[in-house]
Amino acid sequence: MAPLARGSRPRHVPQRTCIACRQTDAKRQLVRVVRTPDGHVSLDPTGKRSGRGAYVHESAACWHTVLTRALLPRALKLSSAIPEDDLQTLHAYAERLSGTSEPVASPPRQPSS
Ligand SMILES: [Zn+2]
Repeated sequence: MAPLARGSRPRHVPQRTCIACRQTDAKRQLVRVVRTPDGHVSLDPTGKRSGRGAYVHESAACWHTVLTRALLPRALKLSSAIPEDDLQTLHAYAERLSGTSEPVASPPRQPSS
C-alpha cells in the first residue's frame, strides 16, 4: 500500500563517507576537513569553505585512524605533507574529542633532584 511518489523524492539527509571507517553517515555527524588553495589543511565546521574536502566522523577513534595512518594527504590529494602547524591543530582537535581534559601523553613527572 505504499504510495508511489513518482517525481517527488522523500527529503533525505545528506550523506558523507568518513575517510577513516568508510561508513556513510549524516553529514552533521562528520566534520569536514578542507585543503585550502594555499596548501593548508584545516577544519571546516561550517562545511562551506571552498577547496577539496574530506569528511571524518566526529569521533576520537576515527580521528586516531586518520592521523596515525596519514589518510588526509591522500584524501585531499596533497602533493606534500600536511604543514606542521595544521597537523598540530588536527591533533589538538582529536585530543579534545577523546573526552579527556588532560593531555593524552603527559610525561611522567620527574622528581627534581
Ligand atoms: Zn568514521
